[in-house]
Amino acid sequence: MVIPRVSDEPLPRSLSEPLPRSSRGPLPRSLSEPLPRSLSERSETKRRPEPPVNAHPRPRTVDAASRRAREVAASVLDPEVPVLTIEDLGVLRDVVVDHGRVSVTITPTYSGCPAMDAIRDDVVLALTSAGFDQVDVRLVLAPAWTTDWMTDAGNRKLVEYGIAPPTGRAAASGPIRLQLSVRCPRCGSLDTREIARFGSTSCKALYECRTCLEPFDHFKVH
Ligand SMILES: [Zn+2]
Repeated sequence: MVIPRVSDEPLPRSLSEPLPRSSRGPLPRSLSEPLPRSLSERSETKRRPEPPVNAHPRPRTVDAASRRAREVAASVLDPEVPVLTIEDLGVLRDVVVDHGRVSVTITPTYSGCPAMDAIRDDVVLALTSAGFDQVDVRLVLAPAWTTDWMTDAGNRKLVEYGIAPPTGRAAASGPIRLQLSVRCPRCGSLDTREIARFGSTSCKALYECRTCLEPFDHFKVH
């Protein structure tokens, strides 16, 4: 027995297909063509994740000229603490020689640090004296310099110069930053006290040793 249809209306398209080709029209693009390249390769891309945007760039291949230029720039002294080189301070960020042009990147210890103009001039002078005719010095403010960038050699030189090096790490996380005692660079005593927040420069505080009674500069953690 045949169940009669309720009406003569055509069935919904989805049920009545396949229609003759001529009435179907062109297939939707997504079905009639191969996937666009970018979609078909998506899974391939996922298997090779992009490095994080702020990852450190790979060290570039350093040629002899760049090495030499770096040596020269690294020997420039900090005008405020002339036993420290700008490399000891961690101020020298990058030196690249490209087609004879030297590009030096430095990060000031403090933005507006008056020593930076002198450092820039000294870098240009040192490099031109060493035979590099074209020198660009670029100041990069971010990431901001911290005393953590100072080298161990730099910290030793500070003590020998009579300045107490930074105590602790600026990058210490958490709400409590350990305040370490400042050691007197002359006698080594930890019995010291701050007598002025700003010493000979804004980077330093003026301290006094209660043991040997000498005042000294302390390079503040920054
Ligand atoms: Zn002392």
